Formats: sequence, C-alpha cells, structure tokens
Amino acid sequence: MKLTHISFITLALTLAACTSIPKSALPPMGAKILCENDAAKISVTHATARVNGCETVSSARFNLTIEPEKDTDPLGEPINNSAWYGFRVDPQGSTPLTVRLTYEHGKHRYHPKISNDGKTWTWLDEAQIEKIDENDVELDLTSDGRPFLVSAQEIFTKEAHDNWTDKIAARANVTKTSIGTSIDGHPIHMLEVQTEPEKEKPYVVWVGRQHPPEVTGALALIPFTETILEDTPLANRFLDHFNLLIIPMMNPDGVTAGHWRFNKGGTDLNRDWGPFLQPETRAVGNAFKRFESGEDRIVFFLDFHSTWRNLLYTQTDEEPTTPPMFARDWLKAVDDRLDDEIYPFTREPRKNSGKPISKNYMYEKFGISSITYEVGDATPRDAIDLSASVFAEEMMSLLLKHETGQ
Ligand SMILES: [Zn+2]
Repeated sequence: MKLTHISFITLALTLAACTSIPKSALPPMGAKILCENDAAKISVTHATARVNGCETVSSARFNLTIEPEKDTDPLGEPINNSAWYGFRVDPQGSTPLTVRLTYEHGKHRYHPKISNDGKTWTWLDEAQIEKIDENDVELDLTSDGRPFLVSAQEIFTKEAHDNWTDKIAARANVTKTSIGTSIDGHPIHMLEVQTEPEKEKPYVVWVGRQHPPEVTGALALIPFTETILEDTPLANRFLDHFNLLIIPMMNPDGVTAGHWRFNKGGTDLNRDWGPFLQPETRAVGNAFKRFESGEDRIVFFLDFHSTWRNLLYTQTDEEPTTPPMFARDWLKAVDDRLDDEIYPFTREPRKNSGKPISKNYMYEKFGISSITYEVGDATPRDAIDLSASVFAEEMMSLLLKHETGQ
C-alpha cells in the first residue's frame, strides 16, 4: 500500500504522541494552584482534597503541611489520628519530583494511593515512600508526565455516594427520602426497603460514613447492602420477614472538605448520639423516632467505620440483647466461613462506656444488638467485598432463625 501525504502526517503524529506524555483522563487543572516549581504544579481544588500549606523547596521538591480541621473535639480531646491528605499533581514534563508530607496533630497513617483518572487507584510503591519520622514522610512522585491525584485512600465523594444511593433507590421496593440536611445544605439520604409496605415487619438498620476518611467502611457497606437486595432465595426470604433502613452517608460536608474526623460544626458525629446537637445526627435521631413510638420495631443495628484492622465492637455477653447473644452467634457463623488469611477479624465486646456513640445509644434505647463494623485501612479491597457479603448472609440467616424459628 502506498502511503499518502496525509497518512505520513498521521503516522508522524502517532509516533510523536507515543513518545510524549500520554493523554490525561483528569479534567484540566483549575486556575487555583497551591504552589509550583519546574517539576510540577500542585492544586487542592477537587472534592476531598486536603493540604494546608505548601513550600517550594527546590525545582524538584515540595514540602506540604497536613493539618486536621480542628485539633480537638468539643470536649478538648485530641483529634483522632486519621491524618487524611489529598492533592493533585500536574507535572511539567517527566522530571523527578519529591514531596514531603509533614503532619500537624497527627502521624502518617494512610498509604498513598495514586490515580490518573480519579476512578482506578494504585498503591504507591513502597520503594517510593520514605518515612523520615512519625510526622514526616517523603514521597517520590516522579511520573510519566500525566496529571495525577494523590490521596490517603481512594476518593469516594459525596457525589459517588449519591449516585450509588440513586442506583439502589431505582430498584423495586426501595424508596429514598431526605431526612434532613447537613450544615452546608447537603441532603442526608435514607433508603427504605419494604417488599410489602402494608405488612408489619421488623426493621434492620445500618448507617455509614460518620467519619470522613473511613473509606474502607464505606466500601463494605455497599456489598453488604447489595447482598441483601440480590435476587437469591436467602435474600428474598429475608425481605419477606424484614424491612431495611439504610443511611449510607452521614457526613457529606466533612467528606467533601477532606476532614479527618468532624462535620462542619467541628463535632465528631459519633459522639453526638443522644445530645443530637448537629443537624446530621439530629436528622438520624428524628428518623429513628418511629422505633421509640412503637410504630415500628427495630431488631438490629450496624454502623460502618474503618480503623487499623478488621474488627467489630459489640455488646458484651453479659449485656442482654433481643435477640439474645446475637453478636456472639453471628460473628461465630461468619468466622466459620471466612478464611483468616483473607479476612482476619476479631470481635471486641465493649461494655457501654456511657459515651454518646451510635452503638451505645441504639443499645440503650432499643435493647438490640448494636454493632460498630470496622474495616482495616489497608484491607485488600476484594476481601472487603467478599467478607461483607458473608457478614450479610449470616446476618440474614440468624435473624430469620430468631424471627421464624428456622
Ligand atoms: Zn469511625
């Protein structure tokens, strides 16, 4: 075949493109640049981004300061060490780049994740991370020249939560309501699942994302929920006997602002169950009034979080619950099925400390088994998926056994 003049140009352009910077999947960088040098520009304008200061040290180095939204809670307790960070790098070519993170009021906790499109994430290679001391870590962010995001965990925005909630709400038997709004005016969504609304059925309830950086807990809530909405004999039988209430995202403002812990009111929402001084927690407290009035019956409560490893905070066996010994039997059944190599977890019975956290509030109010489902920060994401569906299946089986005798 004879190449035409145009083909030559196309070929030349293709070859040129192969040797230059690959095309970026990220939108163009906004005008607001935090700092820049010969190697790169850094910005923090996307949702969940967090960097509090940037110093250009040389043509190839930056020092970034990372601080929490506030250094104490309203009672003066030091902020939880959930040192969230997030920024965007637009390299000016493919020159070497070193970025030092210096934490104030916290220590390095989250392994950096990198994304060229905001959807797929890779863990920065260990060899590119140098821990200087507890408060300082240096990252080698030399790249192929494409813009990229660096984030403490995968970015899971308020919008992504909303999209998932809408997807679930589009199914038969699911209704979505807004039970209130956050300080910034974002709705707090609740999903209600009833296959026969005219029939009285007890409710199983779960909530999530009170604490902004706790992405792995949010990643567990999704397969947990979807397992119960799947068209399987177990799930169908379960929904013949139970209704669901799900509040997947309690702290949209904190997530969007890249907070370490609090809502926009400077409060740890999981220390506000009972006082209900914040609009987000108050909305949930009001939504649960139906269980106080006796209008509806609640039988089980879960709250999804993240911490250093996989664990579940439960009542102790000495604290009576209805159904009895539910936590013990549920977690035993899950443990029998899950491979310790894939998803090791522990049950951590904790007597009611009197603190206004969801677990204590729901137990005291309703006498039910009320459990904090904590997923490790670094737990492999496929293990989170797999285990969440096992937790969901065993919860369904055991609740059915108590409710129907089989
Ligand atoms: Zn938490």
